[in-house]
Formats: sequence, structure tokens, C-alpha cells
Amino acid sequence: MTDLPTFIAGLPKVELHVHHVGSASPRIVAELAARHEGRSPVPADPEALADYFAFRDFAHFIEVYLSVVDLIRDADDVWLLTHEVARELARQQVRYAELTVTPYSHVHRGIPAPAFCEAIEDARKRAEADFGIALRWCFDIPGEAGLPAAEQTLRIALDERPDGLISFGLGGPEIGVPRPQFKPYFDQARAAGLRSVPHAGETTGPETIWDALRELGAERIGHGISAALDPELMTHLAERRIPLEVCPTSNVRTRAVASLDEHPLPQLIEAGVPVSINSDDPPMFGTTLNDEYAVAARLLGIGPEGVAALARDAVAAAFLAPAEAARISAEIDAYQASAAR
Ligand SMILES: [Zn+2]
Repeated sequence: MTDLPTFIAGLPKVELHVHHVGSASPRIVAELAARHEGRSPVPADPEALADYFAFRDFAHFIEVYLSVVDLIRDADDVWLLTHEVARELARQQVRYAELTVTPYSHVHRGIPAPAFCEAIEDARKRAEADFGIALRWCFDIPGEAGLPAAEQTLRIALDERPDGLISFGLGGPEIGVPRPQFKPYFDQARAAGLRSVPHAGETTGPETIWDALRELGAERIGHGISAALDPELMTHLAERRIPLEVCPTSNVRTRAVASLDEHPLPQLIEAGVPVSINSDDPPMFGTTLNDEYAVAARLLGIGPEGVAALARDAVAAAFLAPAEAARISAEIDAYQASAAR
């Protein structure tokens, strides 16, 4: 029997909550910074970058995040980022990932929407051929930019409608950004066949999650950890099979949760709420999807069998065609059986 980290590293997985720019590792950021040397505050040297990525607090995290967004200036940068993120996911045996992309940020900084969408699509197809990983997009509204950003994100989604686009999201801060105001945009996105995946209940209480369900038709919730404070909500999520995308380390880094030991993952699982384990902005939070599975295993007191079950739960929560979901689940089964030998 292999040890747990080795088991996790080889386990076929899906990743459902990971941000496109937030996945830029120091290696990728260094490449982008080198392309724009002298025109960015971001160091191009990977060692200096490690210090640059050491966050003092959440405000500092946002500052660094935005300086990385500023490094993405043309379609070639978008392509490079997307293809390299896919490479790093595939190295962790991720077979399928739903990447949260914020087209508004890039279009706002001067990359035309058609060029942006063409770059992510071309990188998606190339990554599938190069690394055997399938990528899909969730276009999300940066909530802090308000309704104009919602309108523009919807327009890009519906007018460009890249083949890999499957869902519509809402990110950014929750405090001071009520979910119900975005209802008309989610209504139109859903009418056009996109799935609804807003962030909710990360830094605010269960009422935000109820809003996301009732007003935005959420089919999965980004984070949603404050559901643990509301037994009725947990029952609702369990009965309707509405999964939460749980990102434990992110919650500690953003101080949504005081420490990993206080993370509500065990209560959510205990209540039968479907969850997937995810990494959010992994290099920025000093984690990986594999690390998040290890964290979950520790919080839940589970071994390889339980970890494989978590991987299957994530497959069930994915917006995958049934045949594709069955194929990845079968791969997990086969891996588990071979590891037990
Ligand atoms: Zn997120």
C-alpha cells in the first residue's frame, strides 16, 4: 500500500473551483513578467517571486492578484497562461477542470473579447491534445465591479459563446455585494443554457447562499461553507443534491475560517451535503489540488478509500456528460483497485 500523499498524487481527479489568473504559478508569472520586463512591478525572477507571493493579508493578496492580471496584456499572454495552467493541472492527474475565467478584467484592460475567447479556446484544444486534460469555462462576474461588469460578462458569454463555456458565475467580495441584484443576468445566462455557479457563503452567512439558490438558480455553490451554520440549508442542499465547492486552505488564507481545525468540512459531510474538494487560487494560497485532498483527508480522518470517494463525488458534481463522468469514475475505481494490491 502506498502512502496517502503518493496515492493522492496519482489519483485521477477533476477540479471544479479554480480561477484562471489565480492559477498562475511563480513559474508562469515569471514567464509573463519576462515578456513585459520593465513595464510591470512583478519580478521576473522566480526566487524573488516567491517573496512577492508571500501575502501579508487579504488586501495584499488582492494587490498581488491585480498586478498579475495587469501582466496579461495580449492574446498571446492569455494563451500562455491557459496552456501552462492546464499543464500544471494535468501533472496532478486532473482529467477535467472547470476554470473560472473573468473575461471582464481582460477586456477592460484592452484585450478585445473575440481575441480573448479565441485565445482560451485555442489553448484549451491544444492542452487537450498535449496533456490529455479537458478544460471547460465558467465566465464569472467580478461582483465588486457591479452591474456594468455583469452586463458586459453576459454579453461576452452570449455573443462570443466559446465552445468550452458551460457556466456563469459570480466572484469577488460578498460583503456589500448582494447576490439578488444579479438575477436578471443569471436569468439570461441560464435561458441560454449556461449552468449557474455563483460564489456564496464564503465570507458571509447562510442567507447569501439562500439568495444564490432562490435568486440566481445556483446549481452548485462556490465555497458555501457558511451553510454549516444553518441545518435547514444543509438539509436542502443534501436533498436537492446541490454541491458546495469547498476550498479549505483558501478559507484559512482569506480568514473566512480562523484555522483548518475549525473548518466546517466535517459538519457538511456529516449532514450529507454533496461537496467537491478544490484549490481556488492555488499558487497564491500556497497550495495545490493534491494538497487540498490531503487537508480534507486529515480533517475527515479518512484514508485512500475515503479520498477516492471524494474524487468520485467531485466527478458527480461536475457538469460532465454522463459517459465522460462514468469514464473518469471508472478510472478512479481502477486506480484505487491497483493501489490496494
Ligand atoms: Zn473562488
